[in-house]
Order: sequence, then structure tokens, then C-alpha cells
Amino acid sequence: MKRAAILFLAAVMSIGMTGCGSGRNNSASSEAYATADGAPISLPLQEKATLKFLTQSSPLAPEEPNEKLIWQRLEEDTNVHIDWTNYTWDVFAEKKSLAIASGDLPDAIFDAAMSDYELLKYAKDGVIIPVEELVDQYMPNLKAIYDAHPEYRKFVTAPDGHIYSFPWIEELGSGKESIHSIDAIPWINQVWLKNLGLEMPTTIDQLTDVLRAFKTQDANGNGDPNDEIPMSFIYGSGGESLVSLLGAFGFGDNWDHTVVDNDGKVVFTMSQEGYKEGVQWLAQLYAEGLIDPEVFTQDWNTFVAKGANHLYGIYSTWDMGNVTGFNSGDYSEPEKITADYAALPALEGPSGWKNITRTNGFGLDRGRMVITSANRNLELTARWIDKLYEPLQSAQNNWGTYGDEAQKNIFEMNPEGTFLSHLPLGDTSPWELRQKTFVGGPLAVLDSHYGTHITKPDDAAWRLDLLQEVYVKDMQMDNNYPRVFYTQEDQLTLTNIETVMFEHAMTKRAEWIQNGKIAEEWDGYLKDLETMGLSEWLRIKQTYYDEFNQQ
Ligand code: CA
Repeated sequence: MKRAAILFLAAVMSIGMTGCGSGRNNSASSEAYATADGAPISLPLQEKATLKFLTQSSPLAPEEPNEKLIWQRLEEDTNVHIDWTNYTWDVFAEKKSLAIASGDLPDAIFDAAMSDYELLKYAKDGVIIPVEELVDQYMPNLKAIYDAHPEYRKFVTAPDGHIYSFPWIEELGSGKESIHSIDAIPWINQVWLKNLGLEMPTTIDQLTDVLRAFKTQDANGNGDPNDEIPMSFIYGSGGESLVSLLGAFGFGDNWDHTVVDNDGKVVFTMSQEGYKEGVQWLAQLYAEGLIDPEVFTQDWNTFVAKGANHLYGIYSTWDMGNVTGFNSGDYSEPEKITADYAALPALEGPSGWKNITRTNGFGLDRGRMVITSANRNLELTARWIDKLYEPLQSAQNNWGTYGDEAQKNIFEMNPEGTFLSHLPLGDTSPWELRQKTFVGGPLAVLDSHYGTHITKPDDAAWRLDLLQEVYVKDMQMDNNYPRVFYTQEDQLTLTNIETVMFEHAMTKRAEWIQNGKIAEEWDGYLKDLETMGLSEWLRIKQTYYDEFNQQ
């Protein structure tokens, strides 16, 4: 009986093996390529070869990726033709799963959008392969980056010690000076301040008084005292939320509600005493009619429409250029920019504490490209991917290209072909233009490239200067939470806890802003968080934080 079962299993397995073994007539992956004389592969190839990749792109981009100038130039440079199977962003996740489930795998997946969980699952299932040896043998550009920045090698290394993917790295400042340090900048209407003879507030109490004045004193001076919205946001934890103001009450908050204190202890932001005080303050503002009643329901378009009419006293977003705009000047000449709004500096809270909460954002994405187990051209694929890590190639893949006669260019190349300068964008939407021409995928734009290979994008340079000038000095926490690589099991535990606990905490915060009942419900709330797994969540986050810093 036992023996029969084993034989049966063996038979099933051998059928399965035939289905994806080497004897198949595979359509999704390429034939093995070899140099004519069996010599090692170097690019450009003597004879053209084809690799087959699965990818995704914007609906605004050409359906055939090879119509993009970036890919045409790379094919010329390498003599490698890429046979793309391309899906638009909206359907890619589903198509990717289907392609993997079919077993008829492409050579690699470009712009793979692989979560950590997927990387580990597909590695375990034998769908994707470890690449660390390919990096060491065939990828001098990427290897040099990992050697010079060991933190990036650490970043891509899975808990089992292997590397399963090629990352996207975009440096724009680092540490507290990183462009990601603050997502939600609070912008204050400085024209209204001036109209009412008010100073820029420096404390939470002064801000409250300013908001009262905005509400009652016809701040925009049009004779109607009721058309000002003292404060607006989009309820949540993102760029348009008012999380940054909560820093005055302690740790504050950020989008993943995770802060590391200066003793290296991981903190859940939404269970802190200071957080309670901050929400109480927001409830007071709400009760006085100082907060836009639409904050809980409005979408981006509604939020921007009111912003464009300059109806806000204070609002939050990544860059005011996207909401209230500039009156004159542009990013290319920051000193000439004039605007009705200005960044509101960190405020002193009721206890005299001043702090701006850092996000845990980094210009990093682990799962940008993976190589599958069907790939019979590992060396060639690795050498092709390594080209993407050349500084000039990375910059174009990240933002867009130069010398395109059919559409507006992101860059201008110098005559020597060694330096790319960002062109002024004028009134072109940078994101729309980028979607048509950039290719994304794995790449590395490093701080050391600015000034040596490329210029910094003007909008980023402007924002970096602003952060440096206004906020960096008030970031009280020396560390933020790194992009650790959880095991599948721990990732699943965290996700399960967060799904319930984050949702509950955000729902309660919305209720408390509107009903002011936080003080009476606080103890019960803390018990709820505990039931939902707060201690386990903190234990896992702390363990990975400590391990990350010991390595
Ligand atoms: Ca008015």
C-alpha cells in the first residue's frame, strides 16, 4: 500500500517534470545562446540574440516597449533583442500570477513588482533563481555598487542568505537629509497671515489662534468672512494627511505608524500618550469648525480643486507645486519662486517639545527584476541587466531620455555623450511625460552621480533644500525603521496584525476627531490594541531592527 502510493507519486512527478523540463517546446523563454567560438559573452554580441521578458507599462506608453527610444538604443548597444510580453499596470499583477501558474515561464520579469512575500514564495517554489553568483561573476556595475554600499547588498539579501532580485535604488539625500524624510509637508497661507497682521506661528497654541483668525476675520479680504477653510487634509496617513503636525505632541505619526526612539526601541505611534494629546487637539479644532468637514470623504481631485482656488489656510502635500502652485518662477530658478504658501516649520507643543516625525521611506525597491528557472541564458541575461546599472542608463530608465524628435525630452546630452542635464519642464506634467518615455525596472541613481553624470531634477533639488532649511534641525529621532527583509512567516503575522490593528486605530482616530471622546475611551482602546496583537507586532519589529543593526 505504502509502496503503491510512492510509485503513484513518482509517476505524477515525472509527468509534472516532463511538463516543465528541458525537453519541452517552450514559447515563453529563449533558446540557449552560445558565442561562435565558445568564448565568454561580452556586449555588444557579435551575433544578435533574443531574450524573452515579461513586463508592465503605463497605459500612456506604447504597447510595444521596443517603440521606446531607450530600448531601441540599448538594442543597438548590446545586439540583444528583447521579445517583450507587456501588460498595462492595471492588469499586470493578475497576468504575472497566471504566467507563473502556467509554468511556461519567460526568461525574466522586468518591472516585476515582486513583494518580499512573493520573492520568498517563488524562490521556494523554484520559479525564480538566486542571483548572487551571477552578480559576482558577470555584473561588474552592480557588484561595484554593492561593494561600495554594503547596505544595499544587505537590503536585497533574503532571510535565507540568498539574493533573488535586482533592486531599484534612487538616492536623493540620505539619513535625515533624504527627500523621503517627510512626506506630508504642512503648507500655510502666508498671504492670509500678512492680510491679518499675523506672524508665522511657532507653537501649537499660536497655530490654533491663527486658524481661528483665518476662520472669522475674512483672511482673503473679499468681504465674505465664510469662504475660508482654515485647515484641510485627506484623512489617512499619506502625503495629504496632517500627520506631521502631531510631532509636537511626542513621537508624532507617519504612514506605517512606526518610529524608533533614540534608545533603539521600536514604537507604535498610535498607542502613545502624546498621540492621545495630539488627537485631542485635532478634536478641539474640529469642534470649533477649524477643520474642513470634507476631510473624511474628499478625494484627491476635490482636495486639489479647493487648493487651486487658495481656499486653505493650512493643508498638507509632498510639494505645494502640485496643489496651490507658484505665482511666479519655477523649480529651475528656486530663488525666483513666489507663492501664496510656505512650509510651516515644526511647532512647539504644549510641553515645549518640538519635533518633526521622519517617515520610513527610502528610494529603494527590492523586487524590480527576477530571473526565472526557465532561463537558459543566465550569463547573457546578467550582463544585459548589468548595463541598466550604468549611471547614464539608470538615469534615463528612471526618468526619460534625450534626443527624441517625436516628443518632449527629459534630458539633454552633452556633445561628448558623458553628461545628462535635466531640461526645464515648463508647463508639461513631469509624471505624464515620464510615463510615455521612461522604462523603470532595476537601476541605481546614486548621490555621487549628481554633478558627475547627471543633474539633479529641479523639483527634487528645490524640495531637498527646503527640507534642509526648515525641517532637518527639528527631526528629534536619530534613526528610522530600515527596510528589513522578513521571513514569509513573520511577514504574514505582521500583515495579519496590521490589517486589523491599523484599521481599528485609524477608525478610532476619525471618530475621536469628530466626537472628542478619546480621553474616556483611551484605556479600552489600548486593551483592544493588545488583543489585536500589538505586543507580538512590536516583538517582531524590534527583533528585525536589532538584527539589522548587528549585521
Ligand atoms: Ca473671505
